[in-house]
Amino acid sequence: MGFMAILTTQKSKSVAQVSEEKLIEIIVRSLGRACPPFPAGPGGDCAIIPQTEKAKFRVSTIDSVILGRHFDSSCSGSLAGKKLVERNLSDLAAAGAKPKDALLSLFIGPNVNLAWLKDFAQAVGRTASRAGMNINGGDVCRVQAGQFSATLFVQGFSQRILTRTTCQAGDRLFVTGELGGSLLGHHCHFRARVAEGLWLAQQKSTTACTDLSDGMLKDLPGLIGKKWDAMVDTEKLPLRPAAHQMAKKDGRSALEHALQDGEDYELLFCVKAKDASSFAQKFQKQFPQTRLTEIGFIKKGKGLVRSLKDKQPLLGKGFSHFA
Ligand SMILES: [Mg+2]
Repeated sequence: MGFMAILTTQKSKSVAQVSEEKLIEIIVRSLGRACPPFPAGPGGDCAIIPQTEKAKFRVSTIDSVILGRHFDSSCSGSLAGKKLVERNLSDLAAAGAKPKDALLSLFIGPNVNLAWLKDFAQAVGRTASRAGMNINGGDVCRVQAGQFSATLFVQGFSQRILTRTTCQAGDRLFVTGELGGSLLGHHCHFRARVAEGLWLAQQKSTTACTDLSDGMLKDLPGLIGKKWDAMVDTEKLPLRPAAHQMAKKDGRSALEHALQDGEDYELLFCVKAKDASSFAQKFQKQFPQTRLTEIGFIKKGKGLVRSLKDKQPLLGKGFSHFA
């Protein structure tokens, strides 16, 4: 199958050729087994889900993908659909929640290619199913030509949740995976760290957690809050090969890319100092495929991210001392 763009100039291939009812039917069919049967699934005024979870917390989040903002017109439906679900799963992972239910809202322009949309919905269904999450219902809205966006509201459950700003002095700072250069492909091909997040929430030694979506320099201050500083050993940051590739192209350092690029969708979390070494061993035994790196520690402060080497704040620009 050749490349298929989201927008088409041929009316016969566009969503405009089908009625509202038919369009919804096609979307629901494409979502596949992620859609449970009515009344827990589509077909009623509401999705009605029996309350079976015994977990202490119900965890909710919502995220969108917008054509021209989170993906461009050359992105396949399957990559855009996967990205929408994985972005939400990454937030559930950061909270240590098990994905369960979701609602999908679609805003579709008349010149959206129907085959692209099917591809999109299939990927949403596939990615949700793989994570054990249902798509229980949603909404379809017609918008202006040239526009497409999709919003997914997700819910998960957890016995113990992870959150931000709950770290303590001395806590060690860990990150999963690698950082930087996400635009070269990772931003569409990542898999959210759901299993790792669930496991982290079960460990008493984990004190705080977030996922890296906006880049370390934005997400780390969010993790620690205003009472602590994070001391980061920049030499230990796990750089993605793509961070080096981008550095070669634009002259900014690979470290700068790792700190600022965003869309890493890795977990960044704190572990009690006394448990740090046994924790790392346990983690690697549980997740031998997932890279884990200790990158620094937490101390009393005012919400700054500082370099362990020269104690200077790592700011959003002016990275000259990394060159
Ligand atoms: Mg997040």
